[in-house]
Amino acid sequence: MCLVFPILLAVSSLHSESDCSCDVVVAGGGPAGSTIAALLARKGWRVRLFEKDTHPRFHIGESLLPMSMPILERLGVLAEAEAIGIKKLGADFPAANERGYNVFHFARSLNATWPHALQVRRDQFDELLFVNAARAGATAMTGHCVRKVEVLGDTVSVEVVDAGGHTETLRTRYFVDASGRDTLLGDRLKLKQKNPRHQSAALFAHFRGAELRPGEDAGNISIYRFAHGWVWLIPLPDQLMSVGAVCYPEYLKQKKGRGTEFLLDTLRGIPEVWARLTSAELVGNHHATGNYAYSCSAFAGSRWLSVGDACAFVDPIFSSGVFLAMNSAELGAELIDQVLHEPHRERALQARYTRTLRAGLACFSWFIERFTSPAMRQLFAHPRNHWRVEEALISLLAGDVFRDGGVRRRLLLFKGIYYLQSLVLWRLQWPHMKFLKRQARVAFEGGTTGQDHV
Ligand SMILES: Cc1cc2nc3c(=O)[nH]c(=O)nc-3n(C[C@H](O)[C@H](O)[C@H](O)COP(=O)(O)OP(=O)(O)OC[C@H]3O[C@@H](n4cnc5c(N)ncnc54)[C@H](O)[C@@H]3O)c2cc1C
Repeated sequence: MCLVFPILLAVSSLHSESDCSCDVVVAGGGPAGSTIAALLARKGWRVRLFEKDTHPRFHIGESLLPMSMPILERLGVLAEAEAIGIKKLGADFPAANERGYNVFHFARSLNATWPHALQVRRDQFDELLFVNAARAGATAMTGHCVRKVEVLGDTVSVEVVDAGGHTETLRTRYFVDASGRDTLLGDRLKLKQKNPRHQSAALFAHFRGAELRPGEDAGNISIYRFAHGWVWLIPLPDQLMSVGAVCYPEYLKQKKGRGTEFLLDTLRGIPEVWARLTSAELVGNHHATGNYAYSCSAFAGSRWLSVGDACAFVDPIFSSGVFLAMNSAELGAELIDQVLHEPHRERALQARYTRTLRAGLACFSWFIERFTSPAMRQLFAHPRNHWRVEEALISLLAGDVFRDGGVRRRLLLFKGIYYLQSLVLWRLQWPHMKFLKRQARVAFEGGTTGQDHV
């Protein structure tokens, strides 16, 4: 375990860039950190990447989006990622039809670029990206925890401690916080703000031998809603199935220390889910994650930048996390490259970076916050493609929220349709809104934290 000491961000002009032994230090070797380290090293910058754990290590977040695929291609690891992944052609959601679900195939998205994504084991995927960063020229080290960061004029002092307790202090020109939900700078600078509308928690585990969807849909993610939240089923290699339940705080109060049993009881209570798990065995990796959604009030500052979950975290119902992390890393690499050449542009470039990320996050958040509402259920169960609105919705599911190409305009139209539907269903919508308000209250009375082994 790595104890992070208070971080002081001070500005003084006593230190110059010529004191630096490297150009960029990256804290965190997940998808965001490894991506930005690889891209900057490839541009010729001297990059040090530190990961506190040792790869391969378990991580949640196994379902990728099609828009991650071009990033993997640009990183030069597409073939390697495909070799460890399962092809995901779409996402399915419950519907009142004969088979019980609708499939939203990515091939039907507006401006379709990638008709599929991948489902991956994150221990393998993250290791692959980390090794790629080293291959690109970054000095990448596991078992090294960044515990102190200090901005000193034009340079940043970074203290790193290794597994044996040996401490090294480095001087760098730029610092990247890619520490994920640990939010290294977000915590220390008190930038992190909980999302009061989304304080659920998740319980998840791997099963072997669960029932797949038939034919080419065998690799799809399945999403189920239930009275206390929602559930994912993500097929993985070796006949594994990642199964997780995201539950409202009020329901979680009943857990009272019963980790595995509570997850199984929850799954048993959803007949469509349990039907797919009856002949499966629970094989491990059972974890819980609490204190769910948050955003930092700043994603960047003088000589530092955050990427991925270190900036913000939204509920993973649309599997957006890894894509958002890698996308922010690509944007961040461009930004740092420009700032290291032209330091006077830092503020303007950071403002644009923050605006772009916040717009993408807002796009997902609007849908996530309404996903379990009766009006949204109805719209997902009976999709209509008038004015190509359904195609735009599939583009959102594919992660295509940063380019325009008509997606945003049509999503705006979808929002209008949603509000009309809410009026029609107001007798159901109103109690649901009151229910969500109560969950927010319960969450603030007492929550769970961190990611723990159960
Ligand atoms: C329940 C749940 C389900 C999810 N499902 C999905 C999904 O299906 N699809 C999807 O795309 N996303 C999903 N996500 C989100 C996904 O896990 C994250 O968005 C993604 O991992 C973010 O990548 P990252 O690189 O920013 O952070 P991480 O992957 O968390 O990597 C951060 C790394 O930094 C290291 N670190 C932390 N502090 C330090 C330090 N001080 N020094 C050095 N290293 C440090 C950590 O050990 C870690 O390896 C899910 C998340 C949760 C909680």
